[in-house]
Amino acid sequence: MKKIALLGSTGSIGTQTLEIVREHKDIEVVALAAGRNVSLLEAQIREFNPKVAVLWEEKDALDLKNRVKDLPVTVLSGMEGLLEIAVMPESEILVTAIVGMLGIRPTIAAIEAGKTIALANKETLVTAGHIIMKLAKEHHVPILPVDSEHSAIFQSLQGEQENKIHKILLTASGGPFRGKKREELGDIRVEDALNHPNWSMGKKITIDSATMVNKGLEVMEARWLFDVKLEQIQVVVHPQSVIHSMVEYEDGAVIAQLGTPDMRLPIQYAIYYPKRRSLSGKRLDFFQLANLTFEEPDFDTFAGLGLAFTAMEQGGNIPTAYNAANEKAVSLFLNGKIPFLQIPEMIQECMEHCSYVSEPDVDKILETEAEVYAFIESRW
Ligand code: NDP
Repeated sequence: MKKIALLGSTGSIGTQTLEIVREHKDIEVVALAAGRNVSLLEAQIREFNPKVAVLWEEKDALDLKNRVKDLPVTVLSGMEGLLEIAVMPESEILVTAIVGMLGIRPTIAAIEAGKTIALANKETLVTAGHIIMKLAKEHHVPILPVDSEHSAIFQSLQGEQENKIHKILLTASGGPFRGKKREELGDIRVEDALNHPNWSMGKKITIDSATMVNKGLEVMEARWLFDVKLEQIQVVVHPQSVIHSMVEYEDGAVIAQLGTPDMRLPIQYAIYYPKRRSLSGKRLDFFQLANLTFEEPDFDTFAGLGLAFTAMEQGGNIPTAYNAANEKAVSLFLNGKIPFLQIPEMIQECMEHCSYVSEPDVDKILETEAEVYAFIESRW
């Protein structure tokens, strides 16, 4: 029996994680945490019987407590609740599918408590990769990627521990605006940007795919997860999203992982690693794949991608500035407050404005986030 604690259970990754639990019947969900979706968390508690459940706001937690008073579940709130879940003695794996930098502290706590981390929350590595990877090594804790590209790379690395990676080929669908030029993106509507050609995901990450900031975040994530140099990571636009990413070794061999676009596979792979289990759903039919195509990314139109490389090169707290600026910009775009092309502009200005810290600890990372938010409020 696998025992998991799940942060972000009501989101896109969270609900798909619970689909895996439903399918296999040998995973015990010891804890669930969500932001504000009281009704869905209540339904999940009734179905999966966790020992602890957490909602962010105290008033929502009180509401939930009242709703589930017939059940033996402890309801907590806020960061204290998330930290408690992260270190619960009953759990072996922390699945972190929460959104934003909120994921950093629970991940650190779980590593210190020796839990395996199944990591979807890319912001944790983007902003605190230098802390997380070092700590995981010290505590001999595996960080298993849930992001499909990173899972593909991880799968392509199996059995190759002794061999040198020459290059990581990180594939990108190119999003809904692939092939368009900058001048065509001036009046993009929110609905257009939310219309991803291949993947069905949460709103924030769907916009990040449209700007290719998501790929930028993934470049940073890959740099930390696989301990490669930035120049060893190459983004390859592959619109069909069949090859989920590849590794080129020093002898020129390229190993790839292919599959249908279904997040349940990387989630399941992380939970059961190193075992593969059966999984329902569509299979690749190679006779139906008319062609697989590859293109170079357009760094001019999708400026957010290039800025990610710059942020990573500068290091320190600049990736945090990149991430925080993007979070705010996406939320402003989704609320109709700024045009699509202003997202990378905001990121760039925030990166330039941010006071540089070379080795930020968690407090400094969170201070940088606050500094960026305050700058955006004052500037726009
Ligand atoms: P969603 O927006 O769909 O879900 C986010 C989850 O986080 C929800 O359960 C939400 O709860 C919860 N949450 C938000 N704020 C808080 C809070 N203050 N306290 C506790 N929980 C909170 O996001 P996704 O599932 O799309 O993404 C989650 C992470 O996984 C992100 O880092 C994303 O980049 C990454 N990822 C996602 C992929 C995807 O296919 N969706 C693919 C690869 C990585 P509530 O809804 O109740 O407010």
